[in-house]
Amino acid sequence: MEHRAAVQYRYLLMLLSMCLRTVQPQQEVLLPETIRLEGDIILGGLFPVHARGETDSGSACGELRKDKGIQRLEAMLYAIDRVNNDPELLPNVTLGAVILDTCSWDTYAVKQSLTFLEALIETPRDVRCPSGDRPIFTKQDKIVGVIGAAASSESITVANLLRVFEIPQISYASTAPELSDDGRYEFFSRVVPSDAFQARAMLDIAVALGWKNVSTLASEGSYGESGVEAFLQLSRESGVVHVAQSQQIPREPTPGEFDRLVSRLLETPSARAVIVFANVDDIRRVLEAAKRSHLTDHFLWLGSDSWGAKMSPVLNQEDVAHGAITILPKRASISAFDRYFISRSSQNNRRNVWFTEFWEKNFDCKFDIVGYSKRKGIDSLRKCTGLEKTGRDSSYEQEGKVQFVIDAVYAMAHALHNMQQDLCGGLPHLCSRMDPVDGKTLLSYIRAVNFSGSASTPVKFSKNGDAPGRYEIFQYQSSDTSKGEYKVVGRYADKLYLDVSKIV
Ligand code: GLU
Repeated sequence: MEHRAAVQYRYLLMLLSMCLRTVQPQQEVLLPETIRLEGDIILGGLFPVHARGETDSGSACGELRKDKGIQRLEAMLYAIDRVNNDPELLPNVTLGAVILDTCSWDTYAVKQSLTFLEALIETPRDVRCPSGDRPIFTKQDKIVGVIGAAASSESITVANLLRVFEIPQISYASTAPELSDDGRYEFFSRVVPSDAFQARAMLDIAVALGWKNVSTLASEGSYGESGVEAFLQLSRESGVVHVAQSQQIPREPTPGEFDRLVSRLLETPSARAVIVFANVDDIRRVLEAAKRSHLTDHFLWLGSDSWGAKMSPVLNQEDVAHGAITILPKRASISAFDRYFISRSSQNNRRNVWFTEFWEKNFDCKFDIVGYSKRKGIDSLRKCTGLEKTGRDSSYEQEGKVQFVIDAVYAMAHALHNMQQDLCGGLPHLCSRMDPVDGKTLLSYIRAVNFSGSASTPVKFSKNGDAPGRYEIFQYQSSDTSKGEYKVVGRYADKLYLDVSKIV
């Protein structure tokens, strides 16, 4: 019975996916950009390459995200290259990829993810072209597993779809506690810990810093809401930290929303410390509003991993962000990735369909200066030479979750390798027992991996697919004379270690 329901559900989703792709003949079809790498086994990838489009812009996608988007997706390409060049890991098997942009919102992410199911959609028998001919369906790549998504709300909606088709998913950034529910998200795993640990770490930091009264601030959605919920519960149990007020930032903020929010935070003057579980755009706008109200020294921010060590929320408002304590799952900067990323150019990186856009944004120049100036009515613009260099002609810092993207790809590769060894009787290539790759079997191999990851720390999953709770604690420090910087001030693994002497 349950099986029949699942089959019917799959069929409905397939119809839905076909409908979403159906267009009238005179309609212009603007297919979203996609990175496609050929291979024997294809992995899907989901990255927030663009921010969500503003409601009144009429466009689903907003501005390009250089760090969370481009760096992370390049980390997936980098990891795939490394696996493909490794004679010990998946020998004679080439990993390929289909990488999509979620534009930082859940509904768009799930619509995009239907691309991963294309190969599973059976050719309908009764479809005819207007000419009366049978349409030609090109063979699509079957996606065996998906790397992503970033935001928990995106991972949750996508996980609901992928589980129906038994496609395993490994996220490099989604931390909401509900994703640990193996009954609901059984095909989901992650190389980052659940926020159940992060909330504990935040409470311990508040206690260590002697904060008796705090406010909380969450972005609407799974990540913010459940993160704050976990913090509220722990603070009630502790009886030491009292939450004076909890504010939520709506998904579609109205004009003046952030200024009103900051004035509400001022209504509880004893709670200057603010626990922030918000997405990066909201953090930026909260800080902007605090700056507008000249509250440079008022709030003591304690930000979760979505703030982490990111430059984008603090850029040009270093003074309001100064002193913020932030958290990030324990990671290391991968220097081989830095070398790879810095050596990418608009010439040698044509596989990344968003790279020209990145280049223009990163170096503040345009390749087609004439066309652009005409369209925008601008006359003073710099033309890109193509010889610009990341890190020399632009600032560069490795994004905080690059390591986890690499580890997620390697977890998939190790699982496929072990599966191939067991099922293909020692043959050095794929065999019929892996054509197609069975999702449930692959999931069991994913959950069993145990290898030394890109930062030489072990990568393994708990029984419901989570990584252990290890964090690093930073303080953002800036001054009039020095460029702002996130300095390590402590760590958390079962227990908090905070070096108060490093906190300014
Ligand atoms: N941990 C955040 C979430 O689960 C994502 C943070 C990030 O992408 O850096 O939504």
